[in-house]
Amino acid sequence: MTFDYDLFVIGGGSGGVRASRMAAAQGAHVAVAEEYGFGGTCVIRGCIPKKLFVYASHFGEDFEDAFGFGWTVPTRKFDWTTLVANKDKEIARLEDLYRQNVTRSGVEIIMERAEIVDAQTIHLTRSNRRVRARYILIATGSRPSRNLGDCPGAEHVITSNEAFHLPKLPRRIVVAGGGYIAVEFANIFHGLGCETTLVYRGDKILRGFDEHMRDCLSEAMHNKGIRIVTRRTFRRIDKRGDEFFVFTDHDEILETDCVMAAIGRIPNTDGLGLERAGVAVGARGEVIVDECSRTNVENIYAIGDVTDRLQLTPVAIHEAMAFVRTVFEKKRTPVDHELVPTAVFSQPEIGTVGLTEAAALQKGHRIDVYLSKFRPLKHTLSGREERSLFKLIVDADTDRVLGCHIFGRDAAEIIQVVAVALKMGATKADFDATLALHPSAAEELVTMRSKSYSKDPGQA
Ligand code: NDP
Repeated sequence: MTFDYDLFVIGGGSGGVRASRMAAAQGAHVAVAEEYGFGGTCVIRGCIPKKLFVYASHFGEDFEDAFGFGWTVPTRKFDWTTLVANKDKEIARLEDLYRQNVTRSGVEIIMERAEIVDAQTIHLTRSNRRVRARYILIATGSRPSRNLGDCPGAEHVITSNEAFHLPKLPRRIVVAGGGYIAVEFANIFHGLGCETTLVYRGDKILRGFDEHMRDCLSEAMHNKGIRIVTRRTFRRIDKRGDEFFVFTDHDEILETDCVMAAIGRIPNTDGLGLERAGVAVGARGEVIVDECSRTNVENIYAIGDVTDRLQLTPVAIHEAMAFVRTVFEKKRTPVDHELVPTAVFSQPEIGTVGLTEAAALQKGHRIDVYLSKFRPLKHTLSGREERSLFKLIVDADTDRVLGCHIFGRDAAEIIQVVAVALKMGATKADFDATLALHPSAAEELVTMRSKSYSKDPGQA
C-alpha cells in the first residue's frame, strides 16, 4: 500500500506541532493541517494572551503597593485598546515563529480543514483533495463550552475566545463558572477596573483543588471586592440596549455590561469523520485512547485536549513526545500523568503539585500536614492585608512528600521547582536538609519543622 505521508497530523496546536516536528526529526514524511493559526489555544487564545492580561491586571495593585515604599504614582489610567493591540502583535509574532519552526523541520504545512475519510485517508476540504497516511494523529484541541443548560438568552454570553478581543472594557462583568478560567478572568477583569461578579453553581470555587487553597483564594478575592455568588445557576439572560440582566435560579437579577461563560472546554471532534473511520468517542465527544494515546483504530492516535485527559499545554506536549517515541522510535512510552504541576493565575496565584489532602486520604495514606500562613515581607510596608499559605502533605509512614500547595505571589514559579523534587521522590527529611534562601517566601518550604496536624484515611 502506498502512502502520501508517514504521519498526517490534524491540528497545529502545542501537541500537533511538537509531534510533527519530532516525527520529522526521525526521518518521517509528515504533514500538519491547520485551519486557523499555528500554536493552537495556548498561543492564540489561551495561556499566553491570558498571562499577558494577568500582568496587565497586576499593575493596579502594584501602583498602590508602591506608595508605602515612598513612591508617588501619578493618576492612573488604563487603556484597553493598547493592551489588546500589543497583545495581538505579540501573538502574531509567536504564531509566525511556530509556523517557521514547523517548516524548518521539514514538515509540510497545509492551511485548511482536514477530515478523516477512513483509517488511512484524509479529505482536505478547501482544496477538495484526498491524501493517504500510514498514521493519523488527531490533535484538534478543544473549544469553550457555551452549554448553560436551559437558559434563554445564552446566545448573549461571551467565552474566553471573545474576552481577548472585546472592543471595549466593560464597566461591569458577570462570569459564570468556578474553574481555572472563571477564576483567572474574574481576577483579570477586576484588576483592570471592572465591577466583577463570579457566579458558581457549587459551594466553593476551584473544585478539586486543596481546601486550604480554595478558602484562601475565595477570601482574597472577596477582600479585593470581587463578588462571588455560590450555589447559583443562570435561569435567563435578557438584553436591553447595551445592558444584560442575568436572572439566577434564586430569583436575583444581576445587571451587567458583559456576561462570560467559563464552564469547561469541549473536545473538537464535530465533523471530523471519526465515525466513518470507526474511532470511538466518549460522552463529551472526546477521543478515547489507551495509555500510549492510541485509539481503537490501530494507526490512529490522539493527543491533547481532544482526548479530555488533562487539558494542559505541557501535558499535550508530553503526550506528543510519548507518541513519537512509541510509533517512530519504536520504544513503547505510556504517557505519565503523575505529579503534573499546575497553577491558577489568580491574584495571588495558586501553585500546586501532587495530591491534595482529600486525595491523599482517599488513597489510603496516613498524612502529616505542614502549614505556614504569613504576611509576605513586601506587605509589611505596602500595607496590603494579604497572606500567603504554604502547605506540604507528607506520608506519615514513608516521609515522602505527597503534595505541595502554595497560595501567594509567584506560586507558579516556585511550584515548578518543587515538582522536580517530588518527581525525584523527595521526603520531608530532604526538604528539612535543604538550606533556606533568606529572605524569600519559598524558604517556608524548608523551614516548616512542626507538623500542623495529622490525619488517618478514616478522616477523609
Ligand atoms: P474547568 O473544568 O476548570 O471548570 C469548569 C467550571 O464550570 C466548574 O466550576 C464547573 O462547575 C462549572 N460548570 C460546568 N458546567 C456548568 C454549567 N452548565 N453551568 C454552570 N457552571 C458550570 O473549566 P475551565 O473552562 O475553567 O477550563 C478548561 C480547562 O482549561 C481546565 O480544565 C484546565 O485544564 C485548562 N486551563 C488551565 C489553565 C491553567 O493551567 N492555568 C488556565 C485555563 C484553563 P463544577 O465545579 O460544579 O463542575
